Amino acid sequence: MNGITLNSWKRAVIKVGSGLIAPGGKRTSTKYSLPIAGFITECKNQGKEIILVSSGAVASGLSTQPEMLKRTQRTIPEKQALAAIGQSLLMQSWSRFFDFPCAQILLTYDDINNRKRFVNAKNTIKQLLEFGTLPIVNENDTVAIEELKVGDNDNLAAYVAMLAEADLLIICSDIDGLFDADPKKNKNAKLIPVVEKIDNSIYSLAGGTKNSIATGGMKTKIEAAEKATVRGITTIILNATKREVFDLLLKGKQAGTIFKKNPKPMTAKKHWMLHALVSSGKIIVDAGAAKAVVQKGASLLPSGIISVEGAFNSGDAVSILVKEGKNIREIAKGISRYNAGDLKKIQGKKTLEIKNILGDNSVSEVVHRDELVLIEEVQRN
Ligand code: GLU
Repeated sequence: MNGITLNSWKRAVIKVGSGLIAPGGKRTSTKYSLPIAGFITECKNQGKEIILVSSGAVASGLSTQPEMLKRTQRTIPEKQALAAIGQSLLMQSWSRFFDFPCAQILLTYDDINNRKRFVNAKNTIKQLLEFGTLPIVNENDTVAIEELKVGDNDNLAAYVAMLAEADLLIICSDIDGLFDADPKKNKNAKLIPVVEKIDNSIYSLAGGTKNSIATGGMKTKIEAAEKATVRGITTIILNATKREVFDLLLKGKQAGTIFKKNPKPMTAKKHWMLHALVSSGKIIVDAGAAKAVVQKGASLLPSGIISVEGAFNSGDAVSILVKEGKNIREIAKGISRYNAGDLKKIQGKKTLEIKNILGDNSVSEVVHRDELVLIEEVQRN
């Protein structure tokens, strides 16, 4: 099994896509959710902990609005209203399958981006697992406007896996896994059983989605797998329309495509900074500062800063980029100790000069090493 042991996991996030809740983009059906529920129950009987990320709020809402079902284009308020109708139906439909309580958690990108809310959600999920419930997560579609959304439940599931400190992410789909070519177009396409490392060649195998109610395609699944594996969470994409995949998983055997976890996972804080936190500005540095940060493990000091872009406050996340001739390349992300206005006053200045400009309380590090993550760290691992 290429060194992958699937029976040693303790806590999994299982993501179920709309295509399984409402097969073929039509009415909701329990055809595929029932066997998934059976798998969840069996896992819980074995003492494992499960968090379900279920799509299908919009799809469930649609089932009550036959007129809407005929259309493929819907306005945002229509989708949000359908999600509001459908979310409670979705919860009811899952709850019917289990003799332990289900708990609804609705998140938006804001809850992941904001460290306090992230930690709150984390504590709630921990408590829900201690209560023996099945937490069921979805995006809070009704309130989240486009810019505040994760947008697809594949990536949402990866965030949930990291906030729940899961050791396995199972993405249930209606395709067998990742293929070396589009299986719908090429009948010689072969399933890739194990992905050692996610790089551009893996992304190039992903197409978009063709399902009118599903948001994600293979691309968002690979993005999710990348986020999770970097954090040390093994990820599986499998075809949940085939019951045998769950029997295989329960025996600890290979099913679908397994994305191997990174053997040297990034710390939770760095991972959150890199994948969840939105940069509010840019700091462009010279080659010397870039070398100190990337190769010598140094903090970012004002002397190597060439320019500052954006209107960020102290405590906001910023991207650090190096100027190499005409090219600008992102090298790190971190938390700025200065706001953009003050930083502009001290950019390019020596540490000794800072106090004269900004007063005695000023610090010499613009971004402290402990609050900085290298973009390379992901690639190097
Ligand atoms: N949150 C959406 C729903 O429940 C689905 C998003 C997705 O499938 O990626 O309808």
